[in-house]
Amino acid sequence: MNFVRLGLLKRSLNMECRNLHLLKKLAYINGEWVNANSNSVFPVINPADDKVIAEIPDMDATDAKIAVDAATNAFKTWKDTSAKERSSILRKWFDVCQKNSDHLADIITAEAGKPLGESKGEVAYGNSFLEWFADTARHINGEVIPSPWPNKQIIVTRQPLGVVSIITPWNFPFAMITRKVGALMAAGCTCVIKPAEDTPLTALAAVQLAEEAGVPKGVINVITSSRKNAPAVGKVLCEDPNVGCISFTGSTHVGKILYGMAAKGIKRVALELGGNAPFIVFSSADISHAVEQAMLAKFRNNGQACVGANRFLIHEEMFDKFVDCFKYKISQKCILGPGHKEGVTCGPLINMEQIKKVSGLVNDAVKKGAKVMIGGQVAKDIGEKFYESTVLVDVKPDMEIYGEEIFGPVAVCLKFKTENEALEIANSTRSGLAAYVFTSDLGQAFRMSRQLEFGMVAINDGVLSAAEPPFGGIKESGIGREGSKHGAEEYTDLKYTLFSALDK
Ligand code: NAP
Repeated sequence: MNFVRLGLLKRSLNMECRNLHLLKKLAYINGEWVNANSNSVFPVINPADDKVIAEIPDMDATDAKIAVDAATNAFKTWKDTSAKERSSILRKWFDVCQKNSDHLADIITAEAGKPLGESKGEVAYGNSFLEWFADTARHINGEVIPSPWPNKQIIVTRQPLGVVSIITPWNFPFAMITRKVGALMAAGCTCVIKPAEDTPLTALAAVQLAEEAGVPKGVINVITSSRKNAPAVGKVLCEDPNVGCISFTGSTHVGKILYGMAAKGIKRVALELGGNAPFIVFSSADISHAVEQAMLAKFRNNGQACVGANRFLIHEEMFDKFVDCFKYKISQKCILGPGHKEGVTCGPLINMEQIKKVSGLVNDAVKKGAKVMIGGQVAKDIGEKFYESTVLVDVKPDMEIYGEEIFGPVAVCLKFKTENEALEIANSTRSGLAAYVFTSDLGQAFRMSRQLEFGMVAINDGVLSAAEPPFGGIKESGIGREGSKHGAEEYTDLKYTLFSALDK
């Protein structure tokens, strides 16, 4: 790197850092802020303007092993803390995050690119899991089961399963961590977190606040690494004998790799993988409500959400009206720009891979006869990572976009005639995360809830995630549930103890 570029890089680093109060540039192992063993670093980039926000440790397998050892050691004492104590620490973490929510949101917007309002929404959503699990910690109950034998008693307890390896994506860099860490800490487990290359700063900020809240050293550890080191770090996190569970949120492709490694040690897995959500609008639906909800289900985080609506299935009677209203709303509400700019509702896509993927899918569809109703291009005048909010019609099964998770701001609208046809299209995927149905026919709502092969179904709503219900998918969308009372139970083993000879 020449001196002029180095100077510019330093200046841009300083510019960004001045405003980010929770910016940490070191990883966190055993309660210490540390460099990589190799002293390597990698840059974290603001996707809106490509400026370097910070350079942070590029860790590898050696560091991952040190972190797993720290979590293993901390587990020896953390597992024996009382539920009340764990609850109280989680509550303090929630309070500190609440107090710092604007600072957390600033970091999310800087590295993930989402509009500041959405980042604040993510902090509130993510923090609701810490609050929820602070309560849940005290209700992880066992059972006493009447025994089939006289003078014997069956007791079932839930015990923490040990060290959990956490690997998270960039699209919800705060919430994907709190949803897992809140649950596993409530259960009495410890963890090592590997955040995505694109968004490690939010993880470090969250952990800085956990330290402030009094989370004991070694209970949470964060390994930061560039994409090139992710497989080596992942291998340690999946295969180290001291790890009891791999909790992963990300693509189905990587989920399968990690599941394979976990299988070697018969490790527990919690997998939250890709989606391909249908958004079905029947002829009895309130169309303006359906369009309002479609905006949320499609354009939240600019389409980069696992539960984002991927295929809009609209009854033929209202297809044209729906598409016209949708197009109009998009033209009014989707304002592209950098996330920190006032009035912006859609930020950049996270990186050039995402831009290539989204434009590749749209170009393929258009080449094969799909029609662009609005958008359809990279918004080059704003920046190379900004993609226009897009609606496509005349999409056919031979187009790649028909069956793929788009993970971007492109709405594919398909026509159907009958309920069975809608169900058949909706279920014709190996994904099974979320589905949305709009109808005012109660019987139809129940039939769809029963027959849609998805882990979560929203009737007349475009947003369904919260701390209280169980979040998760079926088929290739994953294994296990997050949030709800089941979220904490994922990190426990059931232990059956037989008390015998009670008459002796
Ligand atoms: P991804 O490529 O699977 O990456 C997710 C995480 O896995 C990142 O931290 C990544 O690190 C890491 N990783 C990649 N290859 C690895 C390997 N061989 N060993 C260990 N770690 C590895 O997914 P993404 O592109 O970040 O996220 C988008 C996907 O996540 C979408 O499919 C979306 O549907 C899914 N998602 C699902 C949920 C859910 O709850 N079901 C929620 C959010 C997102 P690097 O960043 O360093 O590559």
